[in-house]
Amino acid sequence: MALHLNESQAEYFIALEEQYGAHNYHPLDVVVREASGVWVTDVEGKRYLDCLSAYSAVNQGHAHPRLQQALIDQAQRVTLTSRAFRNDQLGPFYRELCELTGYARALPMNSGAEAVETALKAARKWGYTVKGVPEGQAEIIVCDNNFAGRTISIISFSTEPQYRAGFGPFTPGFKIVPFGDAAALEAAITPHTVAFFFEPIQGEGGIILAPDGYLKQVREICNRHNILMIADEIQTGLGRTGKLFASDHEGVRADMVTLGKALSGGFYPVSAVVASDEILGVFHPGDHGSTFGGNPLGCAVARAALQVLQEENLAQNAAEMGAYFMERLEEVNSPHILEVRGRGLLIGVELKPSAGGARRFCEALQSAGILCKETHQHIIRFAPPLVISRQEIDWAMERIDPVLKMA
Ligand SMILES: *Cc1c(COP(=O)(O)O)cnc(C)c1O
Repeated sequence: MALHLNESQAEYFIALEEQYGAHNYHPLDVVVREASGVWVTDVEGKRYLDCLSAYSAVNQGHAHPRLQQALIDQAQRVTLTSRAFRNDQLGPFYRELCELTGYARALPMNSGAEAVETALKAARKWGYTVKGVPEGQAEIIVCDNNFAGRTISIISFSTEPQYRAGFGPFTPGFKIVPFGDAAALEAAITPHTVAFFFEPIQGEGGIILAPDGYLKQVREICNRHNILMIADEIQTGLGRTGKLFASDHEGVRADMVTLGKALSGGFYPVSAVVASDEILGVFHPGDHGSTFGGNPLGCAVARAALQVLQEENLAQNAAEMGAYFMERLEEVNSPHILEVRGRGLLIGVELKPSAGGARRFCEALQSAGILCKETHQHIIRFAPPLVISRQEIDWAMERIDPVLKMA
């Protein structure tokens, strides 16, 4: 393919990516030039409704003007101090995040995977220094079909063969139990178990909900065995499922929560772990850190992202619009649909094996003006920004309905 075509043509940008980039993704061939709210526009001027939201990173909608302004204002003052010095954004960010979530302390990182690594390190050290597990023996229980990022330790407990193939040797210390099975969790616990780390709703795993009551049972089991309940809310948190945290649907509080994605509204990688003083208190100067973690630019953007989430009642909008979107999807009378499921604006449509895979439906949706991505082979995820309106869902359904019924 020519690399000097008319630069407004998608083929040019696609060819550049293919020639010079590592091929670690298989994106839809839509080349985005700009975006606002729920809408994105490609290099040829075609408009689409974004039903992926960068995997929940743009819950606040694309290019939110308040986040834009916060980014610009802070970029004109100071962007990075490193944690060798203090800055005037980190303290307020800590306070606002702790007040919103109800946890005593926070630890900021950048990517979601780093927040997960931080939580796992905190749990291990808590196990040795507080619970009294013998050095080097800590076990962490996780669920099958999990997704928590791509570092070597995280893929060490993945059950997705492709995520692991070729990347061993793996980090020891993890035990895998079926998701949604509280009895299996309890049976896997030993005196060396320090934590249960899991997603309250499995996102990348295919929008999998646990049976009702699971989170309460997990809470009770963790209490009884003195192990930490760690909820990975990087995708489900910050309003996506209709509440601040997915765990809130059962009125349960995890001991530690990982956050990322929408923590910066998609402007800048900001992640964090929130927990009690006892848990995050295990870290002493030099134990853990990151050059960019807690930088003033990230903190300023994250503060604005949390403000927008609250002032625009995005969790409530996700609950209302999610219920409406799901109802509309359930009405689609298509021979391909096995199940419509989800919570808030995290919705999965599982297709029957006979449908020929979700990818061709995502490609047809793209042609119709809806951007979606398949997860696993047979599931289409509908997860638009939380600012979506009823009229925009109606606009989307006019296009989604015929695609789901196509031959
Ligand atoms: C996306 C995701 C992560 C990893 O976040 P990155 O920013 O991609 O490293 C971890 N956990 C869950 C549940 C996620 O959805």
